[in-house]
Amino acid sequence: MSTDDNLATDNLATMVQMYKEPKTQSVQAAVELRGVSCYFGPVKAVDGVDLEIFPGEFFSMLGPSGSGKTTCLRLIGGFEQPTSGQIVLFGQEASRLPPYARDVNTVFQDYALFPHMNVRDNVAYALMVRGVPRPERHRRAEEMLEMVKLSGLGDRRPGQLSGGQRQRVALARALINRPKLLLLDEPLGALDLKLREEMQIELKALQRQLGITFIYVTHDQGEALSMSDRVAVFNQGKIEQLDSPKTLYEYPRTEFVARFVGSANVLEGPLHGLGKGKFALRPERIAIQAGSHDGPGSLCGTLLDIHYLGAQTRYEVQVGSERLTAITSSEQQGLQIGSAVTLRWDSSALRPLQEGA
Ligand code: ATP
Repeated sequence: MSTDDNLATDNLATMVQMYKEPKTQSVQAAVELRGVSCYFGPVKAVDGVDLEIFPGEFFSMLGPSGSGKTTCLRLIGGFEQPTSGQIVLFGQEASRLPPYARDVNTVFQDYALFPHMNVRDNVAYALMVRGVPRPERHRRAEEMLEMVKLSGLGDRRPGQLSGGQRQRVALARALINRPKLLLLDEPLGALDLKLREEMQIELKALQRQLGITFIYVTHDQGEALSMSDRVAVFNQGKIEQLDSPKTLYEYPRTEFVARFVGSANVLEGPLHGLGKGKFALRPERIAIQAGSHDGPGSLCGTLLDIHYLGAQTRYEVQVGSERLTAITSSEQQGLQIGSAVTLRWDSSALRPLQEGA
């Protein structure tokens, strides 16, 4: 790990520690959910969620389809009412406040731009509603367009822009009245992979520059890991783990998190000389070599498949009744599909798992 990484990790650890000790620090949460549930008939979309999000954080809600993350975001934005529990925004009880009375804006996946208005007027919309005079509105809209790298496109209609450009207009429009909190619901979902990756970098840079709290909903674990200060992993309406990206990846607490954040082998003790219970083992922590070399700290199996992925190579290995995956950064020589291989790992790479939600 580089010195910079160490520093960043130390800073994050200090920050999280500060948040965990509210009695000794005066950091007020931007968002607090206290025992919040939201039921739609028999469906427990959000089921007893407690969380705190702090000013200036890039916070992601990650989970599979139907896990409750969008409902949680909509509760914070005021688009849904909690069945029970409290929502506190910047120290103010907000559970029953309508969206417009919260210092919060939202960027939706479909952008929700006004097709008949040009880009400048779309961006300036919130200022127009507030009665800001036209020249001032236009000046600020142009500033926002410059910030999202769309200078010169103010006269176009949304229909004359690419998907990525429309996404930037939606962002500029949501940021023009400088909300304290920006909610983003899968805002990059409609973009192709390359553009999505570019926009991830830009979004993160923009959030840093503005210092606004971002709450970002995604089902894409790579996206959540690359941009966020902290990530809440949702499963069946509950938060299964809330941690920094690094801790989530290195120390997943449950099988669900281990499998959803990155890929994981899950080994069940007391097989393989392990203690009782389940253990996660990341594929890149397993070394593979040709032949059977029985011994302590190793397992023998049959190589089922090799996937060459460019920067990495992935191996699928049958060990008894289990199928394990190993990933190496350079392709191992002399491995034949169908032949015997030996897998090794350091016992420090094993992560004990708890029962999930
Ligand atoms: P996705 O990524 O697909 O949007 P999600 O994790 O954001 O999924 P939610 O949209 O929060 O999940 O939905 C959680 C559960 O609540 C789902 O079972 C969904 O069908 C249900 N649900 C959400 N909104 C409503 C609604 N307005 N009426 C009835 N059920 C709803």
